[in-house]
Amino acid sequence: LGGSITRALAQMSKATVVDEKVLGDCLNEITRALLQSDVRFETVRDVQTNIRKIVNLETLAAGTNKHRIIQQAVFSELCSMLDPGKPAFVPKKGKPSVVMFVGLQGSGKTTTCTKYARYYQPKGFKPSLVCADTFRAGAFDQLKQNATKARIPFYGSYTESDPIKIAVDGLERFRKENSDLIIIDTSGRHKQEAALFEEMRQVAEATKPDLVIFVMDGSIGQAAFGQAQAFKQSASVGAVIVTKMDGHANGGGALSAVAATKSPVIFIGTGEHLHEFEVFDVRPFVSRLLGMGDLSGLIDKIQDVIPADKQPELLAQLSEGTFTLRLLYEQFQNLLKMGSLGQVFSMLPGFNSELMPKGQEKDGQAKIKRYMTIMDSMTDAELDNPNPKKLLTESRTIRIARGSGRQVRDVMDMLEEYKRLAKVFSKMKDVKIPKNNGKMSD
Ligand code: GDP
Ligand code: MG
Repeated sequence: LGGSITRALAQMSKATVVDEKVLGDCLNEITRALLQSDVRFETVRDVQTNIRKIVNLETLAAGTNKHRIIQQAVFSELCSMLDPGKPAFVPKKGKPSVVMFVGLQGSGKTTTCTKYARYYQPKGFKPSLVCADTFRAGAFDQLKQNATKARIPFYGSYTESDPIKIAVDGLERFRKENSDLIIIDTSGRHKQEAALFEEMRQVAEATKPDLVIFVMDGSIGQAAFGQAQAFKQSASVGAVIVTKMDGHANGGGALSAVAATKSPVIFIGTGEHLHEFEVFDVRPFVSRLLGMGDLSGLIDKIQDVIPADKQPELLAQLSEGTFTLRLLYEQFQNLLKMGSLGQVFSMLPGFNSELMPKGQEKDGQAKIKRYMTIMDSMTDAELDNPNPKKLLTESRTIRIARGSGRQVRDVMDMLEEYKRLAKVFSKMKDVKIPKNNGKMSD
């Protein structure tokens, strides 16, 4: 999505006169990108209409940056679509709250309710988990395993088959134990079916939750709106968590879920592990969607996933904007070694989408390995020079190609890729490095 919208805007900024036709073409391009990103047709149409309202060609003074104005219009439009206007219920420490999780089977409820508990625990809450899923075999074991790992008290039964009874018993038990955040995991079904909604209604009636969270798999595409709407109609959904945002999910699902439930997205799931969970923040999310890159989020992420002793070095290089081939080589190594770094780089505009196109990760990896073989044939001086092009004469390029068993064209490709990424990284110069990174300041 980001790539093509950014391209559309860049295309337009090249035009010397922005007339009705240029704007129209640009809007069409944006429309196509939004639809490809699984944003619902109706939403796309609204975005178009609203942008047309904001961007009035006649009133744009000559010389104003129309490209920027339209970009901002798209940005603020998408932000406002993700903001339903009323905040979600937030549990308060020491005040007993009940939060119920609903969603289809496989959407990520059981995983996410433990993540949710684990988010509040270090903030001084006493969370607890109740497994009211008696539909899926092994549901209780799964919750028990997660809860044990996260050291969160849990309740469930291997023999009781009535989810309402389990929910009520669990609630009673944890109220006695002074839990201030009782989380109820419910069962799902493969489809949106009457039996599921009936069970959901009964559990809600018996437990009177302060908040019902609808959990949605972010990769379900155009089905998101219908699914979210069905849940909203049967339960008083007050918040949404979109899971599997690490995979092939597009932003469209989140937009649709908000539109259908009139409730905010509060967290996103970014992996199977319990720590792969993020507070949802509208503006960085939309930035990423539009390929503007979330550079402050990137710094946080680096601190999360890169070993502490490597951070100062990487951050220093990034903030200096000296992006050498060696640094690129190291990042490629990391990228192949640790999946989590894929997440780091997906925050950089243009990185993941072009080097690792969705659905073509295998090709992307092969390409990275090819580039690394080429770099293996380079000298230290070439790898460490902030401007390696200067050293790479024609004869050196031929030698490197030969040395790595590749074509000269492959070497040129690799250098192009390096140039593109170096440009992205040079933007890092403007990013403030957080103070807690002691070694950075001296
Ligand atoms: P439930 O049926 O709604 O309770 O869903 P589960 O919690 O059992 O999750 C279904 C599958 O999705 C499991 O294999 C989880 O590990 C996986 N899963 C859940 N959340 C995420 C996520 O954010 N990212 C990824 N990649 N997988 C997830
Ligand atoms: Mg489950």
